[in-house]
Amino acid sequence: MPIAPAPTTVREDEGAYRATDGAAGRPEWGDEPDGSLRLTIDGLWEQRLDELDDRGLSGTLEELQAGIDQLEVLRGRVIMAVRERRAAARAAAGRRELSERAQDREVREQLEERLGMSGPEAARVHRQSKALAELPGPIAAALRAGRIRPEQAQLIADAARQLKDHPECDTLLAELLEAAQTEDAVALGRRARRRIAELDPQEPDKQAERNRETRRASFRQDPDGSVRFSGQAWGVEAERLLTGIRAFTRPDTPDNPRNSGQRTADALDDLVAAALERGTAPTEHGIRPQLLILIPWQTLVEREGMAEGIHTGPLPFSEVSPLLDDCAIACCVLDRDGAPIETSEVSRTVPASLWRELVVRDRGCRWPKCDAPPGFCDAAHGPIAFRHGGPFTLDNTVLLCRHHHQRFDASDMTVRIAGDRVDFFLPDGTRFGSSAPRRPPGGRRGAEPGGSDGSVPGDGSGSGGPSTGASGGPDPPGVGS
Ligand SMILES: [Zn+2]
Repeated sequence: MPIAPAPTTVREDEGAYRATDGAAGRPEWGDEPDGSLRLTIDGLWEQRLDELDDRGLSGTLEELQAGIDQLEVLRGRVIMAVRERRAAARAAAGRRELSERAQDREVREQLEERLGMSGPEAARVHRQSKALAELPGPIAAALRAGRIRPEQAQLIADAARQLKDHPECDTLLAELLEAAQTEDAVALGRRARRRIAELDPQEPDKQAERNRETRRASFRQDPDGSVRFSGQAWGVEAERLLTGIRAFTRPDTPDNPRNSGQRTADALDDLVAAALERGTAPTEHGIRPQLLILIPWQTLVEREGMAEGIHTGPLPFSEVSPLLDDCAIACCVLDRDGAPIETSEVSRTVPASLWRELVVRDRGCRWPKCDAPPGFCDAAHGPIAFRHGGPFTLDNTVLLCRHHHQRFDASDMTVRIAGDRVDFFLPDGTRFGSSAPRRPPGGRRGAEPGGSDGSVPGDGSGSGGPSTGASGGPDPPGVGS
């Protein structure tokens, strides 16, 4: 359904835009009331940014943001007006009144169809519109004047709502409006929660109960094989979530710079892997949940082709091959239709005893300058690769973190292990770098730079320097059974 009001109630002079032909058409800028907004935007569009000095540029940016904030409020008002008008038209036509939820859904669908918004975006815009439409006068005025941002306005309105029957409500509102000039939304939110607790000690408990109702997390598989996730957590759960993610967030190594989203994604992956490795997750028929990857025999032998993840489907062999160095393998014979006929006993590629020896010798990733602790590491094949029948012995195995394991496997580099010394070589035989094992406090620590010039080729500009000490991490993964 188009978002334009029902034809019986629409008055041409009230539309900020007029609808084009039919439901599929996008709204276009109208001439009513005078197109001044369009003119302003056109003017800004014509503005030559290279003619502005730094102050002019940042001034324009601030002005634009204030304009966008105000437009968001206006959009919210239009959306709510449309919603009300549709309800009125329904009533006038003698039709049954829609429930609040049904009305919400109808508006969200219209935003998706009419304005081309995605589902989550439509939900967010609609939620915001509802909140902004009900703003108390002083907050709306501050927002209109560009003194506060919509996020802050919503937060102050929520605080005012929580304390609406309290004699100090107006005082709190004024204090928060004042603080909003200098504090961002997160700091303002903390201030509001503390002040509410002082004024009404019962309120935080009630709010926590309401918050609990809105906790959510969703993991959705996309057709392209990815998994999208989103969610919201409160209170102790939120605290635990951040503690877990931060504990697993490691600094970048010079050869692997990441943006913050990538860093958090890696931390989440390590957190989940550690949880699975600890074996505390509920078992399924006595077997603890682990990655289950199906690899056709030919792919395994030829080291190329596709494997199959139980949950996500096709995976290139190159991506799963690092897993083979440290996993449990079972042989499964399938019939012509792909149904299993027989499955062998499971055998581990890295026995628990070898893992312990590796942890004692390597203490973490042995890649030059990497300080990943054992919990982040795989037992990687050393001088003789898995594909050449390399055995899992102490002199043919080295601890590498997931990132460096993948990097090593994807390269044609070689490694030499002699006692507790590990040297990496480039394909042309030049030494890439070496690393000494990390020692307990008091002993030798950190990595030695490789090469006679003290630089590590390919490791960036030599920034970072040798690592000192292991960062905190999880216990070594439990290996075996
Ligand atoms: Zn590493």
